[in-house]
Amino acid sequence: MSDPVLVYKGEEIARYGFGDPHPFGTDRHDVFHAELAAANLGASVHYARPRHASVDELLLFHTADYIDKVSRMSVDGKGFLDEGDTPAVVGIFDAASDVVGSTLAAVDAIMRGEAKRAFVPIAGLHHAARDSAAGFCVFNDCGVAAEYLRKQHGLQRIAYVDIDAHHGDGVFYGFEDDPDLIFADVHEDGRHLYPGTGAAEETGTGRARGTKLNIPMQPGADDADFARAWARVEAYLDHAKPEFIIFQCGADSLAGDPITHLCYTEQAHADAASALCRLADKHCQGRIVATGGGGYNRDNLARAWTRVVQSFVAAA
Ligand SMILES: [Zn+2]
Repeated sequence: MSDPVLVYKGEEIARYGFGDPHPFGTDRHDVFHAELAAANLGASVHYARPRHASVDELLLFHTADYIDKVSRMSVDGKGFLDEGDTPAVVGIFDAASDVVGSTLAAVDAIMRGEAKRAFVPIAGLHHAARDSAAGFCVFNDCGVAAEYLRKQHGLQRIAYVDIDAHHGDGVFYGFEDDPDLIFADVHEDGRHLYPGTGAAEETGTGRARGTKLNIPMQPGADDADFARAWARVEAYLDHAKPEFIIFQCGADSLAGDPITHLCYTEQAHADAASALCRLADKHCQGRIVATGGGGYNRDNLARAWTRVVQSFVAAA
């Protein structure tokens, strides 16, 4: 029998969100899991429980001062963790720690050989910087996971691949001068969308100059436009030969998202996931953790993320 795909499910990650009328509501987890269940993937999918990340694990990416700030503001639940996008709701410290812990649990399960691929729906919080929250993202599970793969599992060349409509600035700037953090990000041009970064000329700094791939897309870009950009991502990854792939498959790049302007269908996400499986099988023993990222049209996120899991199942 082929390897199962691990999919993380539990109220610990479902509760990460900011309540009505914030676009990152706490209903996103259940909307996805209902769609996944309806896909009837049977024994091909194994459900796994979230786990908590320790402060020591958060410290692999984040500063102690910032972790302390989130912990304090999470008690009162007043004000914002950033300039106004990310409210400090009560309990957000624990919920954000559970998101990070779930991504780390997926990493551990794959490194133990229990599965080749895993999907964590409420994760991929790619805007959080080492020292601050940003854009609905409190702790950057992808950034922590990259550092964790190095410290805990002895890998070095980690690929981060991001097809969310927004630029993965927290990951990009967190590893801007690190040539071994392989970075490919296809996103809406920053002149039209938050966070405004990710120009094609941003290829890394210092020793990493020229090693990172940012591909800005124009508003209205469709599946054909995505396919052209994605061919460059595939060639880049094939050349870079990663040891592990972290995939941020935000569904806000689909047509109909309320806060972005890209017009892909879920086929883009399915095709990207299939291609990453082929690259992972070639270079890194199949190892991929996918994270849900953004996506504020509920039907879109349910379909796009389910198609990613289906691609993983088909490639098993
Ligand atoms: Zn996004």
